[in-house]
Amino acid sequence: MRVEFLGGVRTVTGSATLLENGSLKWLVDCGMFQGGKELEERNWNVRPYHPEELSFIFLTHAHIDHSGLIPKLVKEGFHGKVICTRATRELCEVMLKDSAHIQEMEAEWQNRKSKRAGGDEADPLYTIKDADKSLKYFQTIGYDEVLQVKDGVKVRFQDAGHILGSAIIEIWIEEEGREKKLVFSGDLGNSDQPIVRDPSLINEGDVLWLESTYGNRLHKSREETVQELLEIIQEALRDQAKVIIPAFAVERTQDIIYTIGQLVRNGLIPSVPVYIDSPLAISATEIFKRNSDCFDEETKSVLLGGENPLELPEIIYTQSTEESKAINEDTRPGIIISASGMCDSGRIQHHLKHHLWRESSHIVIIGYQAEGTIGRRMVDGAKTIRLFGEEIAVKAHIHTLGGFSAHADQKGLLEWLSHFDNPRLEVFVNHGEEKVSMGLGERIRQQFHFKTAIPQWREKRILFSPEKEMIPERVAPEQVTPEEGIEEILAPGGTLSTLFRHLDRNYKRLRRKLKRERSKGKELSDSRWLRQLEEINERLEKLESEL
Ligand SMILES: [Zn+2]
Ligand SMILES: [Zn+2]
Repeated sequence: MRVEFLGGVRTVTGSATLLENGSLKWLVDCGMFQGGKELEERNWNVRPYHPEELSFIFLTHAHIDHSGLIPKLVKEGFHGKVICTRATRELCEVMLKDSAHIQEMEAEWQNRKSKRAGGDEADPLYTIKDADKSLKYFQTIGYDEVLQVKDGVKVRFQDAGHILGSAIIEIWIEEEGREKKLVFSGDLGNSDQPIVRDPSLINEGDVLWLESTYGNRLHKSREETVQELLEIIQEALRDQAKVIIPAFAVERTQDIIYTIGQLVRNGLIPSVPVYIDSPLAISATEIFKRNSDCFDEETKSVLLGGENPLELPEIIYTQSTEESKAINEDTRPGIIISASGMCDSGRIQHHLKHHLWRESSHIVIIGYQAEGTIGRRMVDGAKTIRLFGEEIAVKAHIHTLGGFSAHADQKGLLEWLSHFDNPRLEVFVNHGEEKVSMGLGERIRQQFHFKTAIPQWREKRILFSPEKEMIPERVAPEQVTPEEGIEEILAPGGTLSTLFRHLDRNYKRLRRKLKRERSKGKELSDSRWLRQLEEINERLEKLESEL
């Protein structure tokens, strides 16, 4: 069985693993890379995913860092099945279209700039039409149901307790007459989380892909976190100020609605205006209400008691841009929940522009903030933030409340892992920043003595072949160095090793120059650049595969 790590390794975004057994190729997750141009450039070349040859995509959950490249793959020839739970499909319907809308807007903005500079027109990564088309490939599966997808491949989805519809995926494959089991943790939920159930426990497996978003951290308890939020809201009410909560449209927003509802139901705060300023969050909340069978017991009991856990006395949903703008005219104290969760796009940026500079405002960070995002810069204590071409001073209170996380912390991950009873389990630690994944890998080796690896992007491995087990077949492209003994081969203009040296040098020089130009603020016509680099990359890959 061959494996290629196409994303979500040594970073939290772009989750994708290519699996190949005999002539069958499939993916687990197909996420978009987010957090800075260098990473996002990877979204443009999906050739390594072999879209037209894939039979399936098993999708753990709807978050864009797991599902966001599906429309791109469909655009490039994918015509297999996307297998996921019903709630994941429903959420993808709104999330992929929303993502496509962002892609279209970005291309439009780039093109306006490019036109002024006399450059070429660029296409969006994918369009709303592409996203729509991709939905017809979705096929749903119930939790705990074993599905034989092909001869020698079975799959089962179990609740991962991360967001509505999220799953841990178990895959059984036939390998030289023996059955082997692969387990993908997906994003593992936090057992303190409201609405969704706790992650299912898995006992058996030969190889595990384990997420590590918070592999180096311990969350505060939910109780403490709710107390902190309560104090922030009380202070804001006293100062007639606003609380701004950047939140992922799916799950975080609903958790916060649920939590504020609890505070109001328990008489701890008076009813305050709560704006849900994100069309995506509004649609997602509707989907949550439709899928109450996925709720945990506590949330179901609120429902049974005749209260809607996702309603508040003064909740204001703002669909249109005009309604969104009107929020800033409301001088009453209140709470604004808006997306995107990492503040890199969306309406939240307008609210930050209005509130970051106000000393009385509170910004409450409740979700993971990837490196390179505006949210991360606020958490790291930036003095100013650039928004819409303007430097905004950061004077507001910035709070980080880890206990609202939809991810298990280090303790949660290790506890979940402790249920595996195979001492020969092999673990790939993924979905985490490099040093975090490495740290967790080390911890796992010490505590459980499992064989552990932190794969590189584009690394390929062979599984279940005794002599090749867990040995990387090829290191990441950046690490390729001319091999010993290659000198003898003559290439035009010198030896092959000289040629390799020149290639390496020119590539590095190009990257340095590109970085320098960008840091000087010079805008490069990115689409043309990207296309040319993509061509070079494709030619290199083709050459390599011919060897
Ligand atoms: Zn997720
Ligand atoms: Zn994720």
